[in-house]
Amino acid sequence: MSGLLQGKNIVIMGVANERSIAWGITKSLHNAGANLIFTNRQERSYNKLLKLLEKNEIEAKLVVNCDVASDESIALAFDKIKEDVGVIHGVVHAIAFANRDELKGEYADTSREGFLLSQEISAYSLVAVTKAAKELMTEGGSIVTQTYLGAERVIPNYNVMGVAKASLEASVRYLAEDVGKYGIRVNAISAGPIRTLAAKGVSGFNEKMGVVEEKAPLRRNVDQDQVGDATMFFISDLSRGVTGEVLHVDSGFNIIG
Ligand code: NDP
Repeated sequence: MSGLLQGKNIVIMGVANERSIAWGITKSLHNAGANLIFTNRQERSYNKLLKLLEKNEIEAKLVVNCDVASDESIALAFDKIKEDVGVIHGVVHAIAFANRDELKGEYADTSREGFLLSQEISAYSLVAVTKAAKELMTEGGSIVTQTYLGAERVIPNYNVMGVAKASLEASVRYLAEDVGKYGIRVNAISAGPIRTLAAKGVSGFNEKMGVVEEKAPLRRNVDQDQVGDATMFFISDLSRGVTGEVLHVDSGFNIIG
């Protein structure tokens, strides 16, 4: 796949550490020859990213702070990207957040505040990022986000995040229609459970992985690299006829009743 993304400037949002799905994506896009720009929120993630890049001999074009809870922060980040890089061809959105105490028990107990927070960070952020990114995608582009089966079905404990992911998937479709006329595509990957920092917050996570191993057609869990390669497909021209789509990278688990 080397060379497929040669000369393409891709923004990756959401590397927290080497377990992050966004880090698997980083490796796939780097192997395909992309120039990479990173955004992160916490200083801890920034430091981890710099170490990972060094260890893997990947040179970032730019690393910039971006807290998607703030319009100002998003504007500043994309202004800086415009200034330093100019045109971009893709954005990888791998960001979500919900309060840990809302990721267990009953969905009916979700607080107003917790509901709004998960929607803001996990779904609205894609809208705000698309708005900022499209201004820099003057040669067309591809935006890819990360979702989960809990958007489609009731998955125990996923609760408020499932509803945020449903909103994210609907946003993918509405945004795809909006930006399609500018040659920009918007798609989502729906990965099976992967052990990451964010996944630790969901109660009963180990059980979810066990069920996939037992019931999915491929009888195994997926990993960050598999999601990385599928995201690479969406970022590249190989998927030029696809937009508004949710692609399951879950060993086929979603087809089993
Ligand atoms: P990580 O914890 O590694 O990544 C989550 C990222 O979200 C972090 O980099 C974090 O940045 C970022 N983030 C949270 N809040 C904000 C904010 N306000 N502004 C900017 N960035 C923010 O976990 P994953 O790799 O698992 O998560 C990536 C995506 O994949 C999420 O959308 C998740 O829902 C999705 N997904 C995960 C699955 C899994 O099983 N792990 C399955 C299917 C989908 P920082 O650390 O700097 O705060």
